[in-house]
Amino acid sequence: MIFAANFKTNHTRNSTKRYLDTLSEKIAAKKSEEKVYIFPPATALGHYQGDFTLGVQNAYPAQNGAFTGEIGLEQLEEFAIRTILIGHSERRELLGESQEKVAEKFAFFKAEGFEIIYCIGEPLEVRQAGDEAVSAYLLAQFEGIDTAYEKLIVAYEPIWAIGTGRSATTEEIASTHQTLRKTVSSPLLYGGSANPDNIQEIAAIENVDGVLVGSASLDAEKFASMIFGAKC
Ligand code: PEP
Repeated sequence: MIFAANFKTNHTRNSTKRYLDTLSEKIAAKKSEEKVYIFPPATALGHYQGDFTLGVQNAYPAQNGAFTGEIGLEQLEEFAIRTILIGHSERRELLGESQEKVAEKFAFFKAEGFEIIYCIGEPLEVRQAGDEAVSAYLLAQFEGIDTAYEKLIVAYEPIWAIGTGRSATTEEIASTHQTLRKTVSSPLLYGGSANPDNIQEIAAIENVDGVLVGSASLDAEKFASMIFGAKC
């Protein structure tokens, strides 16, 4: 089972260090098959020791260059970062990242051999239109993406469940992951208001190989309790 923490625009360099110290202590007894990923803000990237993989929430598909406000491969290499989140709905929606741009990033970081957690998810109106609409919407988010990439992890994150406290139902997750399983053989994560209270139920769903967690990951003890609470 994979447990990935997306801090988004939360935590500082100092609080990330404290977080990782606490988390490392708390997860010292976790099973080796439970893989932990931490995606702090770019300002908190560093050389940390521990039983987790540090990744980046975003980067520009270039070694370096004139891309004001962005970080590229050169900045990631300084911290030995080899894992990236691509396609998060907040970047698609708030920052206007098109499928074309997302696919360009994917191709660049794939060529560099990065492990990629690729996020897809539908808005509420699509979910309300039914399973077929959801499936068509999600499959369109694979346009330009090599779904056979061996270092791919897919995160299904319904937009209406992100940060809302309203997780998708067990049935919604199960049927969506079953559909996705026909297209990708990579690990499938669920994301959207996963927390210590629902982790056991989510972890038990077929074709759920892990979770991508926002709000509930911000506190190290809470996140650690999810890792132990999943009972997988
Ligand atoms: C996310 O944005 O990746 C996410 C899953 O957020 P939350 O857990 O807060 O819904």
